[in-house]
Amino acid sequence: MYKCIVCRYHEIATKGHNRSMFENKLLDNIRVLAGYAGVEGLTCQRIRGRIFLRKQKNAVFEEAELEQLKDVLSRAFGLESFSPVIECVPEAETLFETAFESAKGAICKILEKQNTIRFRTRARRSDKNFPLISKEIEIEMATRLHKEFGDRIKIDLDDPEFTIGIEVREQVALIYYETFRGPGGLPVGTNSNVLALLSGGIDSPVACHMTMKRGCHVDFLTFHSFPYTPMESLEKVKRLTSVLNRYQKKGRLFACNISELQKLIRDNCNPKYRTLLYRRIMMRIATMLCHFHKLGAIVTGESIGQVASQTIVNLSVINDVTNMLMIRPLAGMDKLESIERAQKIGTFDISIEDQPDSCTVFLPSSPAVAAKFYLVEEDEKRIPGFEEALERAFRSIERFDNL
Ligand code: ATP
Ligand code: MG
Repeated sequence: MYKCIVCRYHEIATKGHNRSMFENKLLDNIRVLAGYAGVEGLTCQRIRGRIFLRKQKNAVFEEAELEQLKDVLSRAFGLESFSPVIECVPEAETLFETAFESAKGAICKILEKQNTIRFRTRARRSDKNFPLISKEIEIEMATRLHKEFGDRIKIDLDDPEFTIGIEVREQVALIYYETFRGPGGLPVGTNSNVLALLSGGIDSPVACHMTMKRGCHVDFLTFHSFPYTPMESLEKVKRLTSVLNRYQKKGRLFACNISELQKLIRDNCNPKYRTLLYRRIMMRIATMLCHFHKLGAIVTGESIGQVASQTIVNLSVINDVTNMLMIRPLAGMDKLESIERAQKIGTFDISIEDQPDSCTVFLPSSPAVAAKFYLVEEDEKRIPGFEEALERAFRSIERFDNL
């Protein structure tokens, strides 16, 4: 019976002169994500702080379409909440009649199964010319329902089983029964494009998601060490990319084989600096890729103190090879928080599949916890043909566009 879904936003509403840029991006993103989910031909209109979604020719949404859209909208960053709505003219009697008729059916259904029902009305009046204030609208609805159902219907403002939402606007009045939470944040594409280092682990997909939530479009870079790591490791990262791309207009996955550099490190450097040297290579290649594709920052899933390579001293040694802005959304999070988020966003089950990572190739038994800058640098200088090998790795990067 629904022909319209109304979307509300929160943080965007605090924006000043560039607010319409945020709103338009949100509209674009909803269309794109809906397209990915197979919902085509959606019309999205933004009217006074709300977005109205309709089918063409104002047709009724089918149940399956509503379910798909609920899923899509729960991933559209920038949205605070949304509700399927019934619309009517903002005239008092018409509004009460329409709300009463639609509520009556739903309440009757519930009362078939139980004796009484707890309910409330929540009204909002943005059109101040409407003759009744919000409280009066709520009282009028309660009076009408009481007349119909008597004591079987009880007002409960704190814990209702059934809520009637009413919003009176200048052009239209909206009636709704369900409100779903959006993901919050800012629409993807309202800030710079960035590059995320995506491993097959739990943390980096969470870092990608958190960065998207702040409005950045994310491209992904993964490192593998074929033939020392299996191609399945790359397949796993591709699947993680697909899950993450459900939250944004698809980002590209770049895959770089660093096995030649890792062999050079194994053969020429102190084993206890191996992981750090790998990480410095990753950072250098990421920096080159950012410059090439004009990406504004590098995102990682590093968390302070999680492992030896993530002590403050070692993070500094890794950071030292790049002049790019580094974003580490998980810096202050512990593993349990990261796991919880990974489960929510749908990457956890893939992340825990057991596949070796590039960083574990030729792994030292006791890595340095606080490496000295100059010793790591000296070690790097010992690598014959280091710059050329870096260049070769960079030039051999593969790209996957449509995951
Ligand atoms: P987890 O900690 O859950 O095993 P992780 O992805 O955080 O997974 P770490 O070893 O903690 O793995 O690596 C820290 C960060 O370095 C990652 O979050 C990721 O951003 C980057 N990284 C590590 N290995 C790779 C890789 N093979 N390709 C791309 N980025 C990587
Ligand atoms: Mg980690």
